[in-house]
Amino acid sequence: MPDEKPVPSMSSAGTVFHIQRFSIHDGPGIRTTVFLQGCALSCFWCHNPEGSTTHPVLQFYADRCTACGACVQACPHHAHEFRDDVHLFHRERCVTEGACVESCFSQALLLTGRSMTVAEVMAEVLQDTAFYERSGGGVTLSGGEPSLSSAFSGELLAQCKARGIHTAVETCGEAPWASLADLLPVTDLVMMDIKHMVPDRHRAATGKANDRILDNARRLAGTGKPIVFRTPVVPTVNDTEEQIADIAAFIRTLIDQRNGSAAPPADRAHIRYELLTFHRLASDKYRSLGREYRAATLEPLPKSRMQELADVAAHLGVDTAIR
Ligand code: SF4
Ligand code: SF4
Repeated sequence: MPDEKPVPSMSSAGTVFHIQRFSIHDGPGIRTTVFLQGCALSCFWCHNPEGSTTHPVLQFYADRCTACGACVQACPHHAHEFRDDVHLFHRERCVTEGACVESCFSQALLLTGRSMTVAEVMAEVLQDTAFYERSGGGVTLSGGEPSLSSAFSGELLAQCKARGIHTAVETCGEAPWASLADLLPVTDLVMMDIKHMVPDRHRAATGKANDRILDNARRLAGTGKPIVFRTPVVPTVNDTEEQIADIAAFIRTLIDQRNGSAAPPADRAHIRYELLTFHRLASDKYRSLGREYRAATLEPLPKSRMQELADVAAHLGVDTAIR
């Protein structure tokens, strides 16, 4: 009987908060990036705060509201109210089923995170196959944290691979190794954040210490998979030469570990490093979520400073780029 490849299932559902087509920042070529809801870290500067919870959340953009009052009528839980001509949103009453969102024609109300099956996501992904082929692009799973939805992520990546589409996963690294390892057979490139080498500083900035992330980084380096380690360079967190040198020195040990392994050179892909430039574009999102934006007063670093930090890593023998 001939060997038949199992056809990957398309039935799993995941909570997707955004699908970005024609992305050029999330891996090689032109890509579709699928953002999955839920993250184990809570980095105070996070550029995607709407994806931090595992459940959907309502965003209210007060500056877009035309005061039509439709949402007040639509919400059975009285979460919207006008008092003295001011629109008050009582977030604690909202059960996020979205009736008000349907009634709002001003895009002042948005519900982040909708349940989608793998088949539904693939229908969007496949629209740009020609662009992936021409540009060397593909599909990237991001978030949030894709490994938190490992069954859905695994099926989605398997569907892409079955169609010859390049796959990448962006991970914060804070996940059980088994969840990450499950995705590796259907992942061509892993992009993993390393934000700080000092556990207490890591915890202060992200809510968790870094021991599991560093352990996962070591295990990942042991697999031979192409990896890009990344550091979002955030003022007051990790923008000194010493802090970047600490991270780069750790990555250097992983490069040496991989180069010294017994695997044939073809199975020992290059490990690269990227420094990501901090920006404050997420401030409106925090306001729409009723959350404090603790990075509001931080100044983005100039290109020249980012280059100085990249040079520090490069001097340690780490192939480093700025994004
Ligand atoms: S439906 Fe939209 S525009 Fe109308 S009051 Fe509500 S939030 Fe404002
Ligand atoms: S999502 Fe539902 S519960 Fe929440 S404010 Fe809108 S209508 Fe009310």
